[in-house]
Amino acid sequence: MRSQFYLERIPYLADLISIFFPKLCLICQQQSTLRHHGFCFACQQKLPFTNFHLTHENAFTDRFWGRIPLQAGAALFFLQKDGVVQEIVYQLKYNDRPKIGIQLGRLYGKILKNHSVFAAADLILPVPLHPSRNRKRGYNQSTQFAIGLSEILHIPVNDTALIRTIATTTQTKKTRLERFENVLSAFQVRDRIAIANKHILLVDDVLTTGATLEACATHLLEIEGVTMSMLTIAIAKS
Ligand SMILES: [Zn+2]
Repeated sequence: MRSQFYLERIPYLADLISIFFPKLCLICQQQSTLRHHGFCFACQQKLPFTNFHLTHENAFTDRFWGRIPLQAGAALFFLQKDGVVQEIVYQLKYNDRPKIGIQLGRLYGKILKNHSVFAAADLILPVPLHPSRNRKRGYNQSTQFAIGLSEILHIPVNDTALIRTIATTTQTKKTRLERFENVLSAFQVRDRIAIANKHILLVDDVLTTGATLEACATHLLEIEGVTMSMLTIAIAKS
């Protein structure tokens, strides 16, 4: 983990640093951000929030309907092609900006804190990266998002119980079922005891088809007493 991360965990030190290096808004890069958020007030007003957490059934939970029983499911933003959320997610994943994930997690944590089943989860599990991908990127973007959520919701993160053992899967010329079985085989539960009898909050960066989240959830739901909720930073058209 980076030293940046540790600095952020010590509140007064982070505040001291921000006096000398004011944090600028992730979008406009001009205004300073709201406390512990990645955005200034004006930019935050314009973001495409889904508000999915306000309804039990929504476009997120619909994507898992009949496949995964969810206590709750929601995405923070709509992902629009060439839109600002796509750019934020790109920066988080491909431009060495792990803190964006923490900031988004904190932002979503504040939204979910007081009125949702999400806050009642026992354990946050980020969708794992294959170790080779993790080494290359230096961090798992979903773990960063999980850390931000955890700080606000006070739910522990476990990023070791579920692992990815196969890096890439070839998905061309396969049926939907073959594709799913392919993704399913890429994940394994390594620590069943840590998972058993828990309400798991599974988190990822972007929900597209849902195949990855479905594969992880399928493994986790095989364990005794597990219930499942899911959160992502964004939801794309499937
Ligand atoms: Zn701004």
